[in-house]
Amino acid sequence: MRIVFVGPPGAGKGTQAQRLKDHLGITHLSTGDMLREAHQAGTELGQQAASFFQVGKLVPDDVVVGIVAERLAQADCVDGCLFDGFPRTVSQAKVLDAMLAENSMPLDLVVAIEIPHEVVFQRLANRGRPDDTVATVQERLGQYHSLTEPLADYYDRQGILRRVDGTGSPEQVFERIRRVVDLAKQPSS
Ligand code: ADP
Repeated sequence: MRIVFVGPPGAGKGTQAQRLKDHLGITHLSTGDMLREAHQAGTELGQQAASFFQVGKLVPDDVVVGIVAERLAQADCVDGCLFDGFPRTVSQAKVLDAMLAENSMPLDLVVAIEIPHEVVFQRLANRGRPDDTVATVQERLGQYHSLTEPLADYYDRQGILRRVDGTGSPEQVFERIRRVVDLAKQPSS
């Protein structure tokens, strides 16, 4: 299966992606992790990306699309992939659709994990990543609202969007996600 997770910062995409990856046995592809790794490795791309993510801005589409295209070409993505944090703009979504269509590997499902803004601030205050300061989180939420939220409509029109309540314990949220994933699995199997 090919699944996309979308949701505001702090929605629990990374936590839930780990669980779902184990459940389905598919590759987990997190653009946030990839960008942070590139930064830690000191690559030029990583430095460039950091100048955006450190202040809560989205990294430019061409940078992100480049690293995803490279990753998708690896063998472990052939049988299925869980996209966590990508796409994050409609233009990234269009590029992803084109890349997947080229290889006849359409998306099966987009899971939108929804949480109220108050919960975002509570959760990120506890996490303490360097880009989790109040000012940065505010900026990330603004970017999410203007650039990422329109993705829900884009995928809803394709009939593959499922909204999941992201509040509650990780176990409760996973149970909700597992239900929509199992439902999406049925028609094609
Ligand atoms: P969160 O969902 O908590 O914001 P991520 O690890 O997914 O955390 O992303 C961290 C940062 O990496 C984002 O704020 C953004 O700057 C950058 N980033 C990750 N994925 C993308 C993407 N697809 N497009 C643009 N920027 C991205």
